[in-house]
Amino acid sequence: MAKIIISRENFYYNLNQIALKTGSKEKIAIVLKDNAYGHGLQEMATLASEYGIRYAVVRNSTEATAIRSLFETILVLGDRAVADEVLSFALNDLSDIEHAQAGARVELKVDTGMHRNGIAPEILDQALAMIRERELRLVGVMTHFRAADEMGSSFFWQQKRFAAIKAKVMDAGFENVRFHSHNSAAILRNNHFDEDLVRVGIAAYGYSELPQTFDTPPLKPVMKLTANRVSTRDLDRGECIGYGGDFIAPNPMRVSTYDLGYGDGWCRGNTFAPFVTAEGLPILGRVSMDFISLEGDKEEVCIFDDAQKAAVQLGTISYEVMTALSKEIERRVI
Ligand SMILES: *Cc1c(COP(=O)(O)O)cnc(C)c1O
Repeated sequence: MAKIIISRENFYYNLNQIALKTGSKEKIAIVLKDNAYGHGLQEMATLASEYGIRYAVVRNSTEATAIRSLFETILVLGDRAVADEVLSFALNDLSDIEHAQAGARVELKVDTGMHRNGIAPEILDQALAMIRERELRLVGVMTHFRAADEMGSSFFWQQKRFAAIKAKVMDAGFENVRFHSHNSAAILRNNHFDEDLVRVGIAAYGYSELPQTFDTPPLKPVMKLTANRVSTRDLDRGECIGYGGDFIAPNPMRVSTYDLGYGDGWCRGNTFAPFVTAEGLPILGRVSMDFISLEGDKEEVCIFDDAQKAAVQLGTISYEVMTALSKEIERRVI
């Protein structure tokens, strides 16, 4: 079976790097949305909790329920707010406030420039009034940077807007509210972090998308994808492999079929610019639903051990390569 091997050592190494930036691991909220960026929700939640992380961030209540015993609080980014002692819910819109259950713990998202989610700063007063009126418990106020991983001014003016929002919320008399804006790129570039919490995803899994100009700490990929041999055959020169026969053996060669395909979330890619595995083997012919072919007869092959490098070959980003991997693939922590 294809397997995803998770390195505990590398995960903890990355978390240590982030803790150096935040000043303590108490300030890290680990983002575990989308099956922990494909690494396995349960596996990564357990490792993070054993490391001493107390806060998590997920996409929906189903994910939160699966890991609720492992964390003190869990922020749910996209689900209806209900009253719960562990879960808190991001409010992405005024309608989220209207639909929230009285007593729910909520974190108001303010749109400082990303223009995806969050209320506009101009209606902050209205949102706060509605939160009071509906008897919601405001436990956090947050924003998200649109380009923390790029040179340019947006990171700075978004921070400024958020500072103004923080002042207003405090002036309005709300207490015990945590303020957070930083994702991975933001914390990696910031040497003066002074917020309550960082919502860290990709950096914990080993990647930085920041350009080289930023002096960022080294990180180590946590995930490795392997596949196993299903069958082997010897081809004569001119024989083809797979659907459409796109690959034609240039010489007699020994080839094997491995148990990974687009049904597992592996990218089908381009037959004529084939993906080359971590061990230097190009995928031969088209990717099938459950199989690929490679030269040789090794029992187990490493498809990638660096999702960012794999992503460059596939014309995408590390996030997509990893989150696409099927939940059905076994995750093994070493
Ligand atoms: C996904 C997400 C993060 C984590 O982003 P990374 O770039 O992976 O660190 C942080 N905050 C919010 C609101 C998110 O949706």
